[in-house]
Amino acid sequence: MQLAMTSLAGQTPHQPIDWESFYTNYRKPGYVPGFEIINKLGGGVFGLVYKARKESIGKDYAIKFLKVDDEVVRDAVMRELDTVRYFAQIDHPNLVSIEDKGEVDGIPFIVMSYAGEATLRKRLEEGRMQREDALRIFIQAARGIQAIHEHSLVHFDLKPANIFLRGDIARVGDYGLSKLVTESRNSLSFGRGTPYYMAPEMLQRVGDARSDVYSLGVILFECLTGDVPFRGDTEWQVLHKHEHEQPSFPSDLHPRERAVIARCLAKNPDARYQSVAELLADLNAPVSLGDSIVFESRPGPGPAPVDEGPPPLPPEAARTRPLQARPAPAPLGVLGGVVRGVLKVFELLILVVIGPIRLISVALGQGLVFLLRLPFQILGVLLRVLGYLLIIGLLVGLAVVFLTAFWA
Ligand code: ATP
Ligand code: MG
Repeated sequence: MQLAMTSLAGQTPHQPIDWESFYTNYRKPGYVPGFEIINKLGGGVFGLVYKARKESIGKDYAIKFLKVDDEVVRDAVMRELDTVRYFAQIDHPNLVSIEDKGEVDGIPFIVMSYAGEATLRKRLEEGRMQREDALRIFIQAARGIQAIHEHSLVHFDLKPANIFLRGDIARVGDYGLSKLVTESRNSLSFGRGTPYYMAPEMLQRVGDARSDVYSLGVILFECLTGDVPFRGDTEWQVLHKHEHEQPSFPSDLHPRERAVIARCLAKNPDARYQSVAELLADLNAPVSLGDSIVFESRPGPGPAPVDEGPPPLPPEAARTRPLQARPAPAPLGVLGGVVRGVLKVFELLILVVIGPIRLISVALGQGLVFLLRLPFQILGVLLRVLGYLLIIGLLVGLAVVFLTAFWA
């Protein structure tokens, strides 16, 4: 096993990739310095992810070992891995943080904060999401992406599997590997990844922050309708549709959200939102954290009136659910009435019987306390009087001595 924790790009010659040594040794504590690998979380197109415990503080992290067996891709990735440091600078509540990077047995790895097991992918598989939930999660993910863009970086692999959920908080993960993503796509090694969220220009070896905007549009479409806009029997078919077909929107989609998605999914990046901030503004969602998001109340079963224009989203703290009005209590049955009557009798007993007893005991208690304290209070008064007498005696004595000396 050979290690290189610091210098990945240019400074140390790259070691040959040794997966055999990896599989023999990765469970040994300290294989990745400072960490003990606990269990495998999964493996995607670009890597194997393991849960690992930092030995010094007993905290869990996720380590992604990058699968870069293609020599051309590997070289590009090794050079690019140095830019992970830029991604690591971004500190945002809607992003899974990047903690470290390194290389072991020639395999580059990234250490990320452990984001839990729940993802938007799993949530979508559980069934159609409530509109409010969908928007809440989407807006948070969009803010995370905006934070990446504000650092002049691009995600390039945005999809529900890379959006982690913990309670009401959504965090985007798996960023910092854009070169790996783009290089692999450029080499057109498809058949491995998911093309459902990919902007059409990515096929032409170009892409920028607006490619993320496209992916956000696909995700919003899926969150609100339950399916992605383009499906096909093969990945090529899906990609072809991204390039040439228009999405068909379900009729019950809210006009505002339909318009936002349509703009995100424009084939030409120039026709899309040029920033996530613009997208959020069109959703009536505050761009900055801490401001409130307003969701409109759920429409009734009938179709939403189209010509009224989109109603405003009602306010709600980004991270909290609205407090629901408590439902009226159900009417009491016979049993409920009896129980209630018994309780009332108890209440009366307490008032009529226990109340006076308590009063007496309190009065008695106070009397006892008074009696016990009385001797001490008398003693205190006596001592104080004695003290005063002593002082007066002393002063008189002094005066007599002084006067006698004066007249003598
Ligand atoms: P892709 O490689 O296209 O991103 P993927 O997201 O399915 O596909 P990986 O990113 O390799 O695959 O992730 C593999 C598994 O590890 C997934 O189940 C993912 O949820 C999990 N995982 C990745 N990063 C983290 C993290 N920071 N915390 C917790 N689990 C993670
Ligand atoms: Mg992933």
